[in-house]
Amino acid sequence: MKYIDEFRNPALARRLLGEIAARSRQSINLMEFCGGHTHAIFKFGIRQLLPPTVRLLSGPGCPVCVTANADLDRAIAIAQLPDVITTTFGDMLKVPGSQSSLQAARAEGADVRIVYSTLDAVQIARQNPEQSIVFLGVGFETTAPTIAAALLQAEALNLDNFYVLSMHKLTPPATQAILNAGEVRLSGVIGPGHVTTIIGSEAWQFLPRDHGIPVAVAGFEPLDILRAVRALVGQAEGGEATVTNTYSRSVRPEGNCTAIEVMYRVFELSDAEWRGFGVVPQSGLALRDEYARFDAARAFSVDPGPVREHKGCRCGEVLRGVIAPPQCPLFRHVCAPQNPIGPCMVSAEGACAAYFMYGEEI
Ligand code: SF4
Repeated sequence: MKYIDEFRNPALARRLLGEIAARSRQSINLMEFCGGHTHAIFKFGIRQLLPPTVRLLSGPGCPVCVTANADLDRAIAIAQLPDVITTTFGDMLKVPGSQSSLQAARAEGADVRIVYSTLDAVQIARQNPEQSIVFLGVGFETTAPTIAAALLQAEALNLDNFYVLSMHKLTPPATQAILNAGEVRLSGVIGPGHVTTIIGSEAWQFLPRDHGIPVAVAGFEPLDILRAVRALVGQAEGGEATVTNTYSRSVRPEGNCTAIEVMYRVFELSDAEWRGFGVVPQSGLALRDEYARFDAARAFSVDPGPVREHKGCRCGEVLRGVIAPPQCPLFRHVCAPQNPIGPCMVSAEGACAAYFMYGEEI
């Protein structure tokens, strides 16, 4: 298959692995920011193929996982209001909040619908003019422009029953927060391919410039990831730090200027609470005042009750790369995809789900 087979070529993979093994001398930690990379790395068995000197750590790149309980609780409380239809991508449904989940709210009668596109939510708003349609805006820079576009379409259609609850997050500030915390020592970052398609590889220049940490932006096929690892190992061994784009078929230095323009037409930077990080300054996106009438946070006044963290769940440390999922005492025995205690076990991009699915211990 074009653009897939070329990036799964076993002979080329063997050659890259040989080059990595030949170059790698010192023990290094590389963090893959993106949950999509975490799952690809497990799926293709890349961890086992790398030399023992190269350790891969999973980062906070799972938007459902980093959504704070306070935000989730508010979304659930809004979903429970009469005449509200909540629309969301599927991953959010099972994520446990402080007291409940969207799935439990739906079982109790709330109208919660899974959509596959933000435009589906706009369509539901058109079909249900007597009800308020709330779309849960969860995602990084990849998702936010599509939600902004949907909101602009709702405006063009003059819909007065379409709302967005913005819980969007931005990826560079989270990486900065990990480094500021100083809990993990990183020799390189595998940059998120989809996010960087939007924000551009130049957006990662602060890592080599301010922290001396190289970045290799990668796609999601085995050769993409191995090329990124080779670039990072080479730079770590050579004492260099630059931004390397190994996903040039998708990523440009300046990113997707149209998507960024649409995103910032509708949203503006705001502080945001991340699970495991607390409030990270200027790491979220709030609706601009011009679009206040679409803002679910302003339109619906709810009291979700006290915020409670899941007892024993160590998602916060998993998301910061401080522990690997099997180091959580609840992993596998108590917490499993059928009975998730924390979001990292629920989401298709969650690190705990990846470790569980591919059966890997530390
Ligand atoms: Fe949380 Fe479960 Fe992961 Fe432990 S295994 S950190 S309880 S999601």
